Amino acid sequence: MRILLLFTLFISLLSCSAKRDLENKDELLMKKYAEEIDTEDLKEHLYLLASDVLEGRKTGEKGQKMATNYLTAYYKHLELQAPQKYPEYEQTIPGEYFNLAAGKSSENVLAYILGSDFPEEVLIISAHFDHLGIKGEMVFNGADDNASGTSAVMEIAEAFQAAVEDGHRPKRSVLFLHVTGEESGLYGSRYYVSHPVFKIENTVTNLNIDMIGRVDPKHEDKPEYIYLIGSDRLSQELHEIAETVNREHFGLKLDYTFNKENDPNRFYYRSDHYNFAQNGVPVIFYFNGEHADYHRPTDTPEKIDYELLKLRTDYIFYTAWELANRSKRVAVDPK
Ligand SMILES: [Zn+2]
Repeated sequence: MRILLLFTLFISLLSCSAKRDLENKDELLMKKYAEEIDTEDLKEHLYLLASDVLEGRKTGEKGQKMATNYLTAYYKHLELQAPQKYPEYEQTIPGEYFNLAAGKSSENVLAYILGSDFPEEVLIISAHFDHLGIKGEMVFNGADDNASGTSAVMEIAEAFQAAVEDGHRPKRSVLFLHVTGEESGLYGSRYYVSHPVFKIENTVTNLNIDMIGRVDPKHEDKPEYIYLIGSDRLSQELHEIAETVNREHFGLKLDYTFNKENDPNRFYYRSDHYNFAQNGVPVIFYFNGEHADYHRPTDTPEKIDYELLKLRTDYIFYTAWELANRSKRVAVDPK
């Protein structure tokens, strides 16, 4: 009896040491909808987005518009809501904003699910879908950068929507944001934060995905990893949730190398989450690190590890599910 008591005490001490409890106790539900994130579907989206036909998806060019059409058709098919102001899911950005040639424009793609309890609060899951276009004869397919993140956002949206269809709407709203103009200077996300569809102060977190389909040289022997960048910069609570979700469900190696303030790569400043962070929104940037094909025409779909892409997408989905369903929005740390 005493041993049992001691054992129970020991176990409860252990669980106290888990830094942040998850509020989502209905894990079966979350796991069920994660099954909607399908490895084959990820692959299909990715091959299409990164095909030569899309000509490297350069901002304002034909291939980027084709990607826009693919995304909007997808959200229409899923029956996600389009913002009232952008009924076709397209937030058109004038060409001058990016210094595009006269007469050209580009667009972000936005689709959302309205929350049941806190509809005015929003979790934003973002990925840029533009890339570098064509140089000479070379198509920059951008399979990892960032057809991988784009496909992940699409599948996460499908998982949330499947839950909605069964009556399990998230407590707060979730916006799926595909931004343009990243490669030329984070323009699409900058435009969004100055023309938001949910108030920026009601934007609880931005989970930004930019390159999650490959393995960098450092992790070749142990590919089940992901770099997290920015998670502890504005909200310790967000950081701890990301850690707890991983510890309880995945056991990925969370690598914080690029999160260091003095990291010379400065990745924290180099993808779309930064525009949210600058406006006080807690962020996590999910990233697999650079590799030999980074920003080269050799960043092609057959080099993606699709099982790994699925695993990382599941991890982001679980984190999103928790953030969208907690009783209180994650707290921003005092300055
Ligand atoms: Zn990128």
